[in-house]
Amino acid sequence: MKRRKFIKNSSLTTAGIAATPFIASCKNDVKPIEATATATQVKPIVVCTWDFKNASAKAWEVLSIGGSALDAVEQGVRVEEADITNETVGKGGRPDRDGNVTLDACIMDAAGNCGSVVYLKNIAHPVSVARKVMEETPHIILAGEGAEKFAYEQGFKKENLLTESTRKQYQEWLKTSEYETIINIENHDTIGMLAIDENGDLSGACTTSGMAYKFGGRVGDSPIIGAGLFVDNEVGAATATGVGEEVIRTVGSFLIVELMRQGKSPQEACEEGVKRIMKKNEGRKDFQIGFLAINKNGETGSYCVHPGFTYRKYDNSGHENIPSNSFYS
Ligand code: ASP
Repeated sequence: MKRRKFIKNSSLTTAGIAATPFIASCKNDVKPIEATATATQVKPIVVCTWDFKNASAKAWEVLSIGGSALDAVEQGVRVEEADITNETVGKGGRPDRDGNVTLDACIMDAAGNCGSVVYLKNIAHPVSVARKVMEETPHIILAGEGAEKFAYEQGFKKENLLTESTRKQYQEWLKTSEYETIINIENHDTIGMLAIDENGDLSGACTTSGMAYKFGGRVGDSPIIGAGLFVDNEVGAATATGVGEEVIRTVGSFLIVELMRQGKSPQEACEEGVKRIMKKNEGRKDFQIGFLAINKNGETGSYCVHPGFTYRKYDNSGHENIPSNSFYS
């Protein structure tokens, strides 16, 4: 199986994350599993996959002056899209096997509106193009040349997304053209971000350059609504990082939100999401997945296949990088 290299967070321990119950929406006669009347809503709040400090600080800046969750997640993830030292997102992302940098991103708001771009070349901020798709077109997903043409029409400028560093790495890679996963060898990855604003409304965004040296044309989970990201303003939101093929097979983020709807805490829902994936991959250890979730009350949780995944959380009490528990120790 051909897979992308994954990421290392060397100082990781598998510290637990408290799972607190919340008041689940009880729709369609589904009974909440762990409902309590004592939960209060934490807001505003933002969380993002991995330790993307600058991105979450930017989102917090937007939220703390009363900005919307939608603006916060867009502005937040743009920080990583612009950072050329982040070689897994936006400009400076590693290319596919043909040497093309192709970006995937999506965004979703509290009303359930969403927009997505896949296989987008030459544009540094796919998340903002995705937002334009959501707001300016009758569609949800634009791909490839069509997405690029639309971006130019919307005023985005053409940029070379390959940097000196990623070009050199690609030249090196061509010598062997090997495409095997090495789990946890870097220290950051796809950014998925979830926020609740002062009004208590949720939004999310997810953006990536996908798996390095992927087949030309490959699209992962990150821009797929329900897989890499899902937001339901009555329940909560979830996002994913890792081998996108496995997240798509379980429609991971949608699954986690639905599990929260049935009464699971964000932590329990993320654990169940990873377990579903592992059930389909019994004994397989060569890939990583990390899920991150937040419920309507601002309670958060995460879980991953291998130790190494963390998430950053910002709220009124400050900010911290939280390590995830994992399926394998
Ligand atoms: N989920 C992304 C993808 O499959 C990759 C990642 O998270 O690193 O494209």
